[in-house]
Amino acid sequence: MFALPCAGSLLGMWPYLPDLLARPVPRYTSFPTAAEFAPGSGAAEYLSAVAAIPVGSDISLYVHIPYCEQICFYCGCNTGRAGRASRLTAYLNALLAEIDLVASALDGRANIRRIAFGGGSPNAIAPTDFVRLVDALTCAFATGRPEMSVELDPRGFSLKWAEVLATIGVTHASLGVQTFSTQIQHAIGRVQPRKLILDTTALLRDAGVRSLNFDMMYGLPGQTENDLTESLIQAIDLGPDRVALFGYAHVPHLVPRQRQIPDDKLPDQKKRFEMAWSGFARLRSAGYASVGFDHFAKPGDGLAIASRNGTLRRNFQGFTDDRQEILLGLGASSISMFPGLIVQNEKNAGRYRMRVSAGQHPLSGGIVRSPDDRRRAIIIENILCNGKADISAVTLGLAGQERLQEFARQGLLDVSHDVLTLSAKALPYARGIAAIFDPYRTQEKRRFSNAI
Ligand code: SF4
Repeated sequence: MFALPCAGSLLGMWPYLPDLLARPVPRYTSFPTAAEFAPGSGAAEYLSAVAAIPVGSDISLYVHIPYCEQICFYCGCNTGRAGRASRLTAYLNALLAEIDLVASALDGRANIRRIAFGGGSPNAIAPTDFVRLVDALTCAFATGRPEMSVELDPRGFSLKWAEVLATIGVTHASLGVQTFSTQIQHAIGRVQPRKLILDTTALLRDAGVRSLNFDMMYGLPGQTENDLTESLIQAIDLGPDRVALFGYAHVPHLVPRQRQIPDDKLPDQKKRFEMAWSGFARLRSAGYASVGFDHFAKPGDGLAIASRNGTLRRNFQGFTDDRQEILLGLGASSISMFPGLIVQNEKNAGRYRMRVSAGQHPLSGGIVRSPDDRRRAIIIENILCNGKADISAVTLGLAGQERLQEFARQGLLDVSHDVLTLSAKALPYARGIAAIFDPYRTQEKRRFSNAI
């Protein structure tokens, strides 16, 4: 856990050191990152890895629905407009076929402890289709009573959806809120009145959701610090158990839909930094614990508990209290993680369907993690999750040591007896510090987002 100041002593802002924020860095939801996946590789290793899962292992599933009713201008996810019902039906049929393929490879050897539904927006499909999907998963895998979570777009939520979630026993949900400012909502192509968020929150609580997350954003077009504060006050008022506060990553050369957001409307790096601090201070003052570098949770929530206990993890869904070492991804673009392997499914939904209908595992590429990758993955995960890592298992070159010194000179970290410890004011620099241990990041092109 980062050595964070208590809410009452949030007097000093983080130091603003633009040189140390200048380098774009990955979000490290895995190491190696998806940028290192080799196209076409990993299929044979995937089958071996699934076959090698020991009988009785606990594992997790992630199911991807790459569709949304409406596409937001800022979105960097693998998603498309839901459009015709036939498109969703064809995708769901492929997903059901992939579930059978993976379940037969697994052959009942593992217990499914968690199932996360993400996207896109899982509620782009009909509630009855969601029931069909959950039935297929529970029949195909030895699920028992797994913890289930779902990402939701409030714009497509309904009483029927709430009833389905209650019947299935979904206990964790995440709502894309982003901002309560009507003006900014128009600028990002996501118009959702406060009443809609309020009603959705009430429906989810009544349905038995005990851990509710709000995704919020800073760095949006035309957004000021006051706008962010106002939105966070409204969010806190609705009592989410968790808040993820993300900086908008503007990379229109990689995500064409972001061209709808003019560059000159975006806050500069200094303003983004001030917003990140202001959001942090606001949420901490409201009693939320800081989790990793961009999540917040009420002290009794599982995420805050994991952060306190040093058991917080980071995977493709961000910071998580899921401790399983194996995550199997289902659906277009989903990623499967094993200790020695990361593989990704075909991203394009059409090609994904074709591969599955030909009876193939629809993998598009991945990476076998070398022993060195695995040692570095532990260090990077510990820096980001716990603010502390034993770095004795790897050797840093001269450039890496100099880079470490740059952060140390600013009082952002300390290395003693091979243990690297981040200071409380290092939170916005955590990704930059983690990147020192990433040997793939030597000559970086503009593939990643701002460090803040
Ligand atoms: S609802 Fe979420 S996944 Fe869908 S377009 Fe908007 S931000 Fe992207």
